[in-house]
Amino acid sequence: MAAFEAVVEVTMREVLLRELVRALLRDCYLPREAPAQMWGGEGSGWRCDVCGHPIAHGEAEYELLFTRPGDSGLHLHRPCYEMWEIERQRP
Ligand SMILES: [Zn+2]
Repeated sequence: MAAFEAVVEVTMREVLLRELVRALLRDCYLPREAPAQMWGGEGSGWRCDVCGHPIAHGEAEYELLFTRPGDSGLHLHRPCYEMWEIERQRP
């Protein structure tokens, strides 16, 4: 793959991820508050709460817990987590 095509692909993925995270925040599927607790580790096959794909072994997984009652927490890929951190703090 040519370098230009690789850059376009990465950019497209970011654009789609941003739109997805914004929609999930707007519809309150994702919280805007900072997590009460957070762990990073290796993927354990959980479905990512942003993109819906399983977080495979060998991939980084972030587990987030919130203080809301009944909250079961979030499991996120690293890029999905980073996008959520950016977008949740946007006014
Ligand atoms: Zn994900």
